[in-house]
Amino acid sequence: MYEANPNRYDTMVYNRLGDSGLKLSAIGLGFWHNFGSVDAYENQRAIVQQAFDLGITYFDLANNYSPEPGSAEENFGRIMATDMKPYRDQMVIASKAGYEMWDGPYGNWGSRKSIMASADQSLKRMGLDYVDIFYSHRPDPETNVYETAQALDSLVREGKALYVGISNYSGAQTEAIIKCFEDMHTPFVVHQPRYNMFNRGVESDLFPVLKKYHKAAAGFSSLCQGLLTDKYLNGIPKNSRAAKSTSPFLEPSQVEQTLKTVKALNEVAESRHQTLAEMALAWNLREPELACVLVGASRPQQLVDNVKALDNLKFSDKELSTIDHILSK
Ligand code: NDP
Repeated sequence: MYEANPNRYDTMVYNRLGDSGLKLSAIGLGFWHNFGSVDAYENQRAIVQQAFDLGITYFDLANNYSPEPGSAEENFGRIMATDMKPYRDQMVIASKAGYEMWDGPYGNWGSRKSIMASADQSLKRMGLDYVDIFYSHRPDPETNVYETAQALDSLVREGKALYVGISNYSGAQTEAIIKCFEDMHTPFVVHQPRYNMFNRGVESDLFPVLKKYHKAAAGFSSLCQGLLTDKYLNGIPKNSRAAKSTSPFLEPSQVEQTLKTVKALNEVAESRHQTLAEMALAWNLREPELACVLVGASRPQQLVDNVKALDNLKFSDKELSTIDHILSK
């Protein structure tokens, strides 16, 4: 029987999501990889327990997390039923709909039909009565934004979600849907964009909009799928994401293309007495709009290492300009 570490809240940082009442742990656990039907269940359990023992309260899922799509929610549901049930009120659990999930015209994108059905499926797979945050996973160019917003709003009114979020929306698309949420008084609290040293587009496009409306972000792929760690400095390890056939979104060629930059960044991290992963996460958190950095983990120890980022969150102007210079090459 799992018993949580009684000191778990002593060192974690909790950041408020904009002007809402909700705080997230500065580091959140993502379930995109490592929680599918192809992954060892006991390792999944150990990762979730380790996360919670470190004070991580934010658990980020989606209907399609995989492989097989849906299996991450199913596995998480098993872990909730066995280990985490007594701690449900200490957890913020999120799911999403918007990427392809089932056959036909209703298993994808952002129609009311799709979102409402997908949310019901996710709750069933996870064995939950409600999620804390339900996201529109991506904007739907063929559905009126008001319809997508209204579907999310309905989930809240039906008690299936406490708050709503959006992901992968541009600055302009975010502004448009915020107006719908304001109209309906929907508790919209968070945007989930890709944000890391190699993906900085949101700094000029999205973050000014979030600032204007007092909203916050929870960034995804905070370590650029592992590229922003020291794991690829001496080649591609066999058990890494770049080597696995079950993770097709990280190719060995991306490792080669970024290696020179990663080596230079690693030297900056060493001068700060941090690992590159720690520095990359701390660097993300320097953005005031970023309340939380989402990380994936293939083993519990990676989380132990990653929370050490919180021990040194400050950057000198010189360090920031050195990092900018390295990234601009
Ligand atoms: P990261 O960028 O955090 O990459 C995670 C991977 O990096 C791990 O699986 C592991 O890879 C490696 N890693 C992590 N910590 C360390 C460490 N200390 N040392 C060495 N290697 C490490 O995350 P993801 O790309 O998985 O994204 C995080 C989460 O964001 C997802 O799980 C999901 O919840 C969310 N997300 C949301 C999206 C959206 O559209 N809204 C899209 C993508 C992600 P390895 O297997 O090689 O050990």
